[in-house]
Amino acid sequence: MAEPPHRPSASVPTGSERRRIVFLGPPGAGKGTQAVGIARAHAIAHLSTGDLLREAVRRRTPLGAEANRYMNEGQLVPDALVLRLLQERMTAPDCRNGFLLDGFPRNAAQAEALEAIASIDRVIFFEIPESVLVERLTARRRCPKCGTLYNLVSRPPKRPGRCDLDGEELAHRPDDNEPTARARLRVYLEETLPLLEYYRRRGLLVGIDASGSLEAVEARIERALR
Ligand code: AMP
Repeated sequence: MAEPPHRPSASVPTGSERRRIVFLGPPGAGKGTQAVGIARAHAIAHLSTGDLLREAVRRRTPLGAEANRYMNEGQLVPDALVLRLLQERMTAPDCRNGFLLDGFPRNAAQAEALEAIASIDRVIFFEIPESVLVERLTARRRCPKCGTLYNLVSRPPKRPGRCDLDGEELAHRPDDNEPTARARLRVYLEETLPLLEYYRRRGLLVGIDASGSLEAVEARIERALR
């Protein structure tokens, strides 16, 4: 990877300015859950490439059909496909105030592509013991209607199998089974983890302890964003 340009700390915007945040961390670390609340609190768009891809799969677009093969195996979808979806999404009006990227970038090529299209002001790294991740992923459930995330162990719905907010039947993501979850972790360690060094060298990285209650983790993220 090329040496980063010098970036004076004065270029980091304060809270009232436009924010461009990246959440970096392994699958199952709680990025998606936290992204919803943090994006809302800062009035910025929550951009999850996983959600964009799942939506393309659901709508049976050609891109979705191609992406699905990789997602079912826990592999990364080719960069060009993900970038196309993301760049299109970034033109939406809700991105005017800034955005929070959840699940992107996932490798060095994506980080470099991102640098060419947007200037990131903070990268939050979710630190969590690897041993709890597979367990968390396989216990994860999601409301297909409103997107609320649950965990059968740490954050179960009030009524078994039903969303607290709209009563919809909760879904288990097909790639949250144990073999695929392990494949996703392997891909993370090989391709995504090296981005820590990439962002550390640019002075953008802040690590947070991602274990504990939802509220505790949220408070740590808010502190890291100041
Ligand atoms: P996620 O919802 O972030 O856990 O992503 C689910 C799956 O979507 C991943 O296992 C990949 O197959 C695919 N995916 C999501 N984001 C990306 C990305 N930035 N680059 C490549 N593939 C991705």
